[in-house]
Amino acid sequence: MKLQQITPHIYWVAPAEETDRPLLGAVVGEQSILMVDAGNSPDHAQQFLKLLKQYNFSLPEYVALTHWHWDHVFGAQALNATLIAHYETTRKLQEMSQLSWRDKALDQRVEDGTEIEFCRDHMKIELSDRQRAQIKIRIPELSFEEQLTLDLGSLTAQIIHVGGDHSADSSIVFIPEESVVFLGDSIYDSIYETPRHYTAQKIFPLLEKLLSLKAAYYLDGHSGQPMLFAELEAFTEYLKTISQCVSGNPADLAAIKNALSKALARELNEEDLEYIENFLNGL
Ligand SMILES: [Zn+2]
Repeated sequence: MKLQQITPHIYWVAPAEETDRPLLGAVVGEQSILMVDAGNSPDHAQQFLKLLKQYNFSLPEYVALTHWHWDHVFGAQALNATLIAHYETTRKLQEMSQLSWRDKALDQRVEDGTEIEFCRDHMKIELSDRQRAQIKIRIPELSFEEQLTLDLGSLTAQIIHVGGDHSADSSIVFIPEESVVFLGDSIYDSIYETPRHYTAQKIFPLLEKLLSLKAAYYLDGHSGQPMLFAELEAFTEYLKTISQCVSGNPADLAAIKNALSKALARELNEEDLEYIENFLNGL
């Protein structure tokens, strides 16, 4: 793990795919530090604190959770900071605090359809059965409905609820003074509501809202590379093109592929086909 600096007061650590560790962020104000997401295990959170210490930073005073998914919240018990989340995230965490995360319980929930294989499998790689027996889901001390603004000292962080297909409780963290947005997983497709999908009704208003912030950098939860404004704009246009091709020919996959290939002026690749399927599933 390596702490990277993106602007004078913002640092981040890249995600790790093998165990589904998400990107973690630190917004360093003159008075206090806000950590973005708590990590997928106490170990993940502690490693992040260690990196902050190497830079002589103090411990984070606040942690903002972008949504309730395990990989963003399991680290919270290792953090001695005020936990902040949207009230729907808090409600989900209250439910999760009643559950066992041990092998038997997890396997049973996958069988029952209340947990998904992808998360179960990565949880098992990140944490042993014994470590999962020690997981205590922390309930946020501060919950908000639309937006919460923190004054970190010469720097503000706006935690804004944005929803979306990935998770209805998704929130972003916007730091206007540094022109940076932490996206969490908000721009991804649904994973818990299967089949995986995007709906035009949810994803496009969300992307428009993100673009309206006109930030220089957008950091999404599972990508190792910050997105520039122009890249988010291009991604939005790309998804719009796919959505239009899908809704124009909803019952004819060949026609969708034809229309998209023509609109993009190239042959389609695996990723294009996945997005087509996502939008079809969302209809
Ligand atoms: Zn997620």
